[in-house]
Amino acid sequence: MLAAGRNFIGGRWVASGSKRTFASLNPATGKPIGHFQLSTEHDVDLAVDAAEKAYGAWSSTPAPKRAMALLKAAGILRSEKERMARLVTVEMGKVLKEARGDVQEAIDTFEYFAGEGRRLLGCTTPSELKDKFAMTVRRPVGVFGLITPWNFPVAIPAWKVAPALVCGNAIILKPASDTPLCATEFVRVLERAGVPPGVVNMVTGPADPVGSKIVRDKRIRGLSFTGSRETGEWILRNAGIKKMGMELGGKNGIIVMNDADLGLALDGVIWGAFGTTGQRCTAASRVILHEKIAAKFTAMLVERTKKLKLGNGLLAGTDVGPLINKAAVEKTKRYVDIGIAEGARLLCGGKAPVGAGSFFQPTVFGDAASDMRICQEEIFGPVVSLITVGNFDEAIGVMNGIEYGLSSSVYTKDVNLAFRAIERIEAGITYINASTIGAEVHLPFGGVKGTGIGTREAGIEGINEFSETKTVYIDYSGKLQKAQID
Ligand code: NDP
Repeated sequence: MLAAGRNFIGGRWVASGSKRTFASLNPATGKPIGHFQLSTEHDVDLAVDAAEKAYGAWSSTPAPKRAMALLKAAGILRSEKERMARLVTVEMGKVLKEARGDVQEAIDTFEYFAGEGRRLLGCTTPSELKDKFAMTVRRPVGVFGLITPWNFPVAIPAWKVAPALVCGNAIILKPASDTPLCATEFVRVLERAGVPPGVVNMVTGPADPVGSKIVRDKRIRGLSFTGSRETGEWILRNAGIKKMGMELGGKNGIIVMNDADLGLALDGVIWGAFGTTGQRCTAASRVILHEKIAAKFTAMLVERTKKLKLGNGLLAGTDVGPLINKAAVEKTKRYVDIGIAEGARLLCGGKAPVGAGSFFQPTVFGDAASDMRICQEEIFGPVVSLITVGNFDEAIGVMNGIEYGLSSSVYTKDVNLAFRAIERIEAGITYINASTIGAEVHLPFGGVKGTGIGTREAGIEGINEFSETKTVYIDYSGKLQKAQID
């Protein structure tokens, strides 16, 4: 049966004023799985009204009580993990095992940030004056807009919603138009967890006008965005002054040194490059090979890649699911053509099988050079390029020679090299002897350079994105005291 999605505004499931809907498709079959509200600016206005109304009571609810709703949400998600995971596979395409991971990440996130309800730490520090007390406390921001992508349709909304709520904000979620069903089911979980009406609102519909209205609305004081760099730049130009968090794209690399355990590195490259069909912001799309092991590793990689089974993520035995939609298939095809024209050697894959779903073969390019477009631009598909280098310094140069700076990985048994890599790689995340993907929710996540604006999600730093710091001075001297003067 097809889902009939509605917006969630002020605690009610309502139709858009547009009276129009759009379809969400299963990327493995191309068939619709439901219809969702094609919302308007007016719908966003209504959501902001509801959020403003709910904000006062929610922001003054003690944080440990707010946290109880998060804990409940975690429990509901846990009990419905399998159902939710199947929805993720059906709507987004990733294989079921990974879809379970997507939901598990949301569970972990809610549990972690529920704990924050009993912390939300400020700090105390001595005053420079006598009989004066100094501290910082955290305050909510107000109404927060959350704009999310489709590649982690449950986990990424959770990354934003959990800290936003525990900090006392009221929110408006605009999910990606490719995954509105997952977002709808996710919001239902929050509703059942007892989040009061108006604290969580969801408006579905296209980037313009729904997303752009959220970006421009002056009543929305905070904005958290995960998506492409182009959209991030547009938001920065148009949002005006708002508290902002951004997680943008990546062009992540794995260095395989001559002393590496090649079997281990191979597992890491396969997982990093082709997990989630290469549609992770942390996907490994460049592999930087020491010349001494380059030929051997390339042969190993091509052999393993050819064995990967492409198919519907619901079927046991599928290694790689579909891309999100036909446009993504076209984009990946274009990049394969670009790679060939640039002189890289297509070693395997490179084709989109004919048929209904949005499939693309896992693809490996050899003889790639760092300045090629396939090594610089985010493809967001199952394409990995191999670059051969002569030594560690060269490898670091290639690793850093991109505009992004999200994830990175080095395979080596040399502890000195490992620590030098940690020091020198320009990225928000560095893995040693592990792939570029696999973030844990209690550690900060985010990147440097073109990947973001310095904010981090998850972990203790996730709280910074969704709260303001207030500095408090309490003078109990009974007289006028002047800092820097007395
Ligand atoms: P987009 O930037 O196209 O879309 C992301 C979200 O923003 C969607 O909800 C989209 O709406 C919305 N949006 C698009 N344009 C605007 C606009 N002008 N104003 C407001 N909202 C807008 O990215 P994708 O969905 O294609 O996601 C893939 C990208 O996300 C990749 O580049 C990837 O690297 C990045 N990403 C980054 C992560 C990180 O943490 N660093 C994690 C996951 C993904 P609609 O769907 O309706 O178009």
